[in-house]
Order: sequence, then C-alpha cells, then structure tokens
Amino acid sequence: MIPLPPKVLFLDQTAQLGGAELCLKDMVLVRKDAYQAADRVVLLQHGPLEDLLRSAGIDTVVYGFSKSSQSIRKDGGLLKKVGSSFDVLQLARAVAREAADMDVIYPNTPKALIVGAMAGWLAGKPVVYHLHDMLTVEHFSWSNLVLMVQTANRLVRHVIANSQSSADAFRAAGGTTPMTICYNGFRRDVFDDHSHNHSMHRKMIRDSIGLPIQTTGQPLVMVFGRYAPWKGQHVAIEALRNLPGVHLALVGDALFGEGDYKSQLITMAADPKLQSRVHFLGFRDDVPALMQAADVVVHCSVAPEPFGRVIVEAMLSKRPVIASSAGGALEIVQDRVNGFTATPGDAPDLANRIREVFELPVAHREQIIAAAYQSALDRFELKAVVEKVNETLRLVVSGQESVVSRQWED
Ligand code: UDP
Repeated sequence: MIPLPPKVLFLDQTAQLGGAELCLKDMVLVRKDAYQAADRVVLLQHGPLEDLLRSAGIDTVVYGFSKSSQSIRKDGGLLKKVGSSFDVLQLARAVAREAADMDVIYPNTPKALIVGAMAGWLAGKPVVYHLHDMLTVEHFSWSNLVLMVQTANRLVRHVIANSQSSADAFRAAGGTTPMTICYNGFRRDVFDDHSHNHSMHRKMIRDSIGLPIQTTGQPLVMVFGRYAPWKGQHVAIEALRNLPGVHLALVGDALFGEGDYKSQLITMAADPKLQSRVHFLGFRDDVPALMQAADVVVHCSVAPEPFGRVIVEAMLSKRPVIASSAGGALEIVQDRVNGFTATPGDAPDLANRIREVFELPVAHREQIIAAAYQSALDRFELKAVVEKVNETLRLVVSGQESVVSRQWED
C-alpha cells in the first residue's frame, strides 16, 4: 500500500495563473487523486487559481495582503517590506493557525516564503520552500535577495529548486539550506489528446486570427507566457522584421502589473512594416490546443529562465521549439537534438533560427520533434515528479533531510 503523504499547507502569494501557480495546482491535484493527500492551500490574493482549486475539491483559504503590500515588487526594497511587516506578522499568525493540523508548510513564491517561514516558526512546523525563481539581481533587488536567502537559511528546513540553474543561483546568493532539484511535471495525456487532433486545432486557431490554411506561406510563430520585459516578447516582434510573410501570435497577458510593457509591445506591433502580422491572443486557458497551431514555438526570455514550462509543453505538443540559451532552458533543450537554441536578446539570431526550422527537411524535423517528445516524457512526467516531492517531504517530516541532500544534491 502506498503510504499516505505528509499533510501539506501550500502557500502562494498570488492566485494568478503564473508558472509557479500552475505547477502548484498540478501537484495538489495529483496528490489528492493519486495519494489521497489531505492538503490545504492558502492564497494571499483572490483570483482564478482559487476557483480552479475549489472546483477540484481542494481545501482553499484566502487571506489578503493589504493593497500597499500587494503592490510591492520583486525589485522593490527591503524597507518597503519592513513597512508592511505588520501585515506579514498578521498573515503569519493566520497561516500558523491554518497549519495546526498539517505536517509541513510549503511556500511556493517569494512573499509566501517570508510569511510561511514565520508561520512555521510560530507553529513549530517544518518549512519546505519551492523555489521557482532565479535569485539574482536581474530579478530581485539586493535587499530582497538578502531577506529571502537569510530567511531560507534560518527558518527553512529544505528547498525544492525547480532546476539546477535556480539551485545554483540560490547557492551563489549565499543560500545554505539543504536542497533537492525537482523539475516541473506535466500530464502527457492532455497534450496527446490535442496532438491527435492536430489539423482540427490548427485550422480553428488559424481561422480565429484570419490566417488561411495552406502548406506554404504565412507560417505562424507562437510565444506563450505572461508579458514581462525579461520574457522578451519584444525580441520576437523585432525578429519578425527579418521574416517576411511570417506571423507571430503572443499568448499571455501582463499578469503581474507589467501594463507599460504590454503597451510597448502593442506600439511595436503597430509598425506598418509588420503589416498586421502580430496577433495578441490574451491570456488563455487552452494552451495545449493553441500550441497545435504553431509552426514553431519560441521561448525568448532575455534573462536566464528558472525553468521554462512552455518549452516542455511545446515538446509534448510535438511542435518544434526554439529556446533562449540560458538558465533552466538549457537543462531542457539540446540544440539540434530535441529543439533549437537562440542567443537571448538577439533578434537577428532568433530570426535565423526560425528560418532554419522552417527550412529543415521534413524527416529531420520529425526526428527532432520525436526526440523532444521522448525526452519530455522521460524527464518531466507529472506523477514521477510529484513522487519525488512526496519522498522529499516524507524525509523532511521524519527529520532525515540530510539523507535527502546526500541522495539528490551534487
Ligand atoms: N500560460 C497559460 N496561458 C497563457 C500563457 C501562458 O496558461 O495565456 C501558461 C503556460 O502554458 C505555462 C505557464 O503559463 O504553463 C508559464 O510558465 P513558464 O515556466 O513558462 O513561465 P513563468 O510564468 O513561470 O515565468
């Protein structure tokens, strides 16, 4: 019989559907369905994740940060955080109460780390932090880096890093907490169902943006992800200038207050030289269907990506993928073996790589797509990933985290 996994209080600062939240959702659902886990999720904001979890029968509670704390950005300063310390203390107390009948507190985001670590201390519960970010100055202010790393070092029993790259960045920033690397996991059946109906989805999506179905001409490049300068959507638009006839669809939105960047993208796309070839599809919940319309999926982050869920999703969708050659993306893609890489921030290079994919002989293209699909199945299968997390939690809860470190850390 499979032993019941520890009861986990998951904690996330947002209920928007970013990569960290989608990872949490998948994990909680598998833990419930396959392991009968009695977890609870505490969110620090209302939003779509709340409804998704509740409708799946997950015990979900929302405690709000005040408006002023919600607007604190990752690159804001430590002083702003201290300014909201009353809020943090109140929330930590509430989370500690929610954790009374749980085995472990599991912050999933940076602000949740601060609240969750304090709650763990108050409630006398071990804290395991799921690190989905690159703790570097490209993403966080120095003071926030220090705050997060010192909090983890002092109050967190174990860090689950979403890639070797994010683990390395944590160590480089001074993190000393024992650590295990667990990539994000994915359900193959969701993607298989859509690739089996490739032609239907491709036609529907091309129709919806006014592109005729044809074997040559007007190919479609697709970029999936929230709008943020470091996600590099502007590089994809820039690359389009060197790709006559090619169309670009941007799937996503400014989820975390990046409205200025969104306006900048819209202005760039309005350039008459691009001849209405950029399509803004907004934030969508049908990514596996949309991917079927992509002649190539492009990941174009200009800073190292902690992991890059969209890259794996493209591989499982059996679409060719080009990823920025940095960070976690390089742990997923081997250039010209299971995908392609391009220099981050280099629009002409990206345009050349897109052209290369389009000009590839069909057999070679299919070989790369098959290798990508197989590597995604081998390395990122959701249940295997969740089992690795469960095993880590069992060892932490039973006080054997040093065993975890020996097993899974270099
Ligand atoms: N995504 C989505 N709808 C959109 C755009 C993106 O559901 O309109 C999903 C995408 O499929 C992926 C996640 O958002 O699962 C983004 O994760 P990733 O690791 O690529 O980036 P993050 O948001 O974590 O920085």
